[in-house]
Amino acid sequence: MTGRFMTIKSAADFEKMKVAGAVVASVHAAIREAAVPGVTTLELDTIAHEVIRKADCRPSFLGYHGFPASICASPNEVIVHGIPDRSKLRDGDILSIDVGAIYEGWHGDAAFTMAIGDVTPEAQQLIEVTEQGLWAGIAAARPGNRLGDVGAAISAVAAPYGYGVVREYIGHGIGRQMHEAPDVPNYGKKGRGLKLKAGMAIAIEPMFNIGTAETSVQDDGWTVVTQDGKLSAHWEHTVLITKEGPVVSTLPEPKLVS
Ligand code: MG
Repeated sequence: MTGRFMTIKSAADFEKMKVAGAVVASVHAAIREAAVPGVTTLELDTIAHEVIRKADCRPSFLGYHGFPASICASPNEVIVHGIPDRSKLRDGDILSIDVGAIYEGWHGDAAFTMAIGDVTPEAQQLIEVTEQGLWAGIAAARPGNRLGDVGAAISAVAAPYGYGVVREYIGHGIGRQMHEAPDVPNYGKKGRGLKLKAGMAIAIEPMFNIGTAETSVQDDGWTVVTQDGKLSAHWEHTVLITKEGPVVSTLPEPKLVS
């Protein structure tokens, strides 16, 4: 995090963030198409890198604190920060992909989880409910609301399913840096925390686990897994807070959530 206070962006800054966000969305689309049984996550990383470069952007993740790739690829019990490698995707896996792109110094950051081939109903439900958690958080990210409203909306979606809501890894402010103030937790109390204002931008990124919320980091120093080895899903969008409401920048077209 850089600084304690969130910067307020101009309309022109938001336009650049929308360009970065659209490139992130096109990486997502390319990976969704390519990620089938037998493909390696290293191959997906190559695809992502090419899409980002062709769009005259830079990958946010490559070299970030030494991270060696343009995407995080996190299968099954991996929650976040998985490093692409030569292992092949298998039918029945779930796979979380997180990507960031920089356009003229401005960032977009988004993640999704997908099924590889046929997955169990439990896995499919985890994917869908985690995405619902993201959209509940986005809907709460409007001027006058507080970050506690965002976190409470997200964790309320997980609660009926008994999912573990990861606490050690959370969303963040975003703009000229991928990670800026403030922290954006996936839990919280309604009416508490920083008040949101037009001109702020945040990345909202719930991670829900079928079992425990507890996490471990593997020996590579990056890969975060569930302590019980059960499945985890991760969804993220970059959200621009405007007078009209939250605008999701990391879609093919920016989307105002009313
Ligand atoms: Mg993020």
